[in-house]
Amino acid sequence: MRTRNPNRNLVDHNAPEAAMKLVRFAALYFLAALAALLFAEGVRTSAAPPASGFVLVAHCGAGDYSKAPPGVIEPRRDAMVVAIKQGYAILAAGGTSLDAVEATIRSMEDSGLFDAGRGAYYTRAGVPEMDAAIMDGRTLAAGSVASLQHIANPIHLARLVMEKTPHVMLVGPGAEEFAKSQGIELVSPFYFYNEHLWERYKNAKSAEEKKSAALTGDSSDEHGTVGVVALDQQGNLAAGTSTGGTVLKMPGRVGDSPIIGAGTYANNESCGVSATGTGEFFMRNIVAADICERVRYLHVSLEQAANDVVMKELVDQHGEGGVIAVDHQGNVTTPFNTTGMMTGTVRGDGKISMKGWSKTADPIIVSASQ
Ligand code: ASP
Repeated sequence: MRTRNPNRNLVDHNAPEAAMKLVRFAALYFLAALAALLFAEGVRTSAAPPASGFVLVAHCGAGDYSKAPPGVIEPRRDAMVVAIKQGYAILAAGGTSLDAVEATIRSMEDSGLFDAGRGAYYTRAGVPEMDAAIMDGRTLAAGSVASLQHIANPIHLARLVMEKTPHVMLVGPGAEEFAKSQGIELVSPFYFYNEHLWERYKNAKSAEEKKSAALTGDSSDEHGTVGVVALDQQGNLAAGTSTGGTVLKMPGRVGDSPIIGAGTYANNESCGVSATGTGEFFMRNIVAADICERVRYLHVSLEQAANDVVMKELVDQHGEGGVIAVDHQGNVTTPFNTTGMMTGTVRGDGKISMKGWSKTADPIIVSASQ
């Protein structure tokens, strides 16, 4: 009769357990080594906290304020400050960069003082057609809308496209049908009527008829596209842009602002960008994505990437405009190759720094909490 080995059970049960321990140890060792490697090489993860807290930057278009009569710059600066305060309050309370970007742009759309929402320029047909986009740098989710004629806040509709549809972009009547399905009221073209814009439209039209070079009308009245980039306390970037496009554009023309990667882009791994200027150049050069990918792949600074694109490549092609950009560490750059591009920047200290109506003017600092 075979005697039973008393250790047999022990051996049988412990062998897999010991093997598991070894596997667990090896896995832990592998993870620790990987973490050390990533850290040593400075590899970024999308969850990395920002080095300098939250930041929000807004622009209201690139152009020429040098001939602007008194009383033109100040109200626009004030309207930007009002808008930036809303974004600041969201970020300071720990809210998301997406919410801050949307709220800031909505306020500028409502003011009627910028080429977006209520102040959007008219096409050759004498009605506005608006474009907008928003992008979430954490997930790369994006929403955009174009050729809208009856939507008061295109940036909000862009956000709904991002969050409530499987698509990135909706245009024209389809986009407005979707807006209705989301409970957004369509507004009549009179919502966008303002005497000043109408005069400008008529002047541009008659200049065109006389084959004058001044197709864009009175350049002393800069009245631009709006855009915002923000980095929130969780280290997440978002970017958004809203516009009526260029003066006297052809009906159906879509610019760079709603094109993801051209006028608007955000990626936590690199940066967020909102552009302004002659959209066709920004589309051909996929400006916003190019800046972010230079940061990501070439490991150049945000400032260098944005300067190389805006001040060299665009200038070589006579592409006018500028960008606001924020990287995942909270660095900000706002290059423009035009005479001016008004911007406002606010960080956790609550001081809004407004500048850009001329290249030499000192910034004006305004408190975000008053
Ligand atoms: N980029 C806009 C467009 O081409 C216009 C602007 O920023 O002024 O539609």
